[in-house]
Amino acid sequence: MKQTLEKIKPLLAKTLSQNKLVTFLTGAGVSAESGVPTYRGSDGIWVEGTRNYKPQDFATLKFFKNNPAEVWKFMLYRKTTFRDVQPNAGHIALANIEQLLQDRFRLITQNIDRLHHRAGNSSSRTYEIHGSLETVRCSEECSNEIYPFPIDVSEAPYDASLVEKSWEVLKCLHCGSITRPNVLMFDEYYDERLYKMESAIETALNTGILFIVGTSGATNLPNHIASTARFKESSIVDINLEDNDFTAEVADDPNGLVLRGKSGEILPKIEQILRELLESENL
Ligand SMILES: [Zn+2]
Repeated sequence: MKQTLEKIKPLLAKTLSQNKLVTFLTGAGVSAESGVPTYRGSDGIWVEGTRNYKPQDFATLKFFKNNPAEVWKFMLYRKTTFRDVQPNAGHIALANIEQLLQDRFRLITQNIDRLHHRAGNSSSRTYEIHGSLETVRCSEECSNEIYPFPIDVSEAPYDASLVEKSWEVLKCLHCGSITRPNVLMFDEYYDERLYKMESAIETALNTGILFIVGTSGATNLPNHIASTARFKESSIVDINLEDNDFTAEVADDPNGLVLRGKSGEILPKIEQILRELLESENL
């Protein structure tokens, strides 16, 4: 299933003339193009970092409570994989698109690697619905405080003994319990305070066009965002390497568009189309 990029221009023009939001929902595929291993792919980080566990068992609060050091070793390893990569052309296009659209732009991301921020997207218009590995919080939730990531992972190559060496600084400053990564685990729920759930749904209700980029639809809030946007008759654009959970509905929708290819190649073209549109039509 492949459609043409030309169809984007009228969809964007309609959105802007109706004064609705232009929203991008991004997932692991966008980061994969920078070299961050994906969660579920056959070359995924689960294979490399968690040989002895299934992801749905490992990345749970239940597992963390019993094996905090194991989870921290994995998270520190992941953090080194983020440190070693750079934002790609897709990230940079999204930062440029925000510059063009300002408050008409929203970015909802499942990625916890902060590559969107590093490319230049603003915190106020970027909702990290799965949290971020740049912050931690108390695993006993003794306060609402969110701390900066306490460990320096700048030493290379990553050494798992870093967790033992750093155990003291991984503790909560208030109660002394172990801190946890400020990321959503498989046995937890989305909320507004930590994961901007309501902001993301509010965005879906007010968006004129939703670009789904580098994500297969395997988690439930992204699915809810897409179905909410469809319910409000927004245009949905599916930008992925392969067909996925979103594709069949998007392909059948007269307002939908399916684009196959790398986000690092397609998003700069969308930026260019938008730039031309804003210059020519005074939107
Ligand atoms: Zn605490």
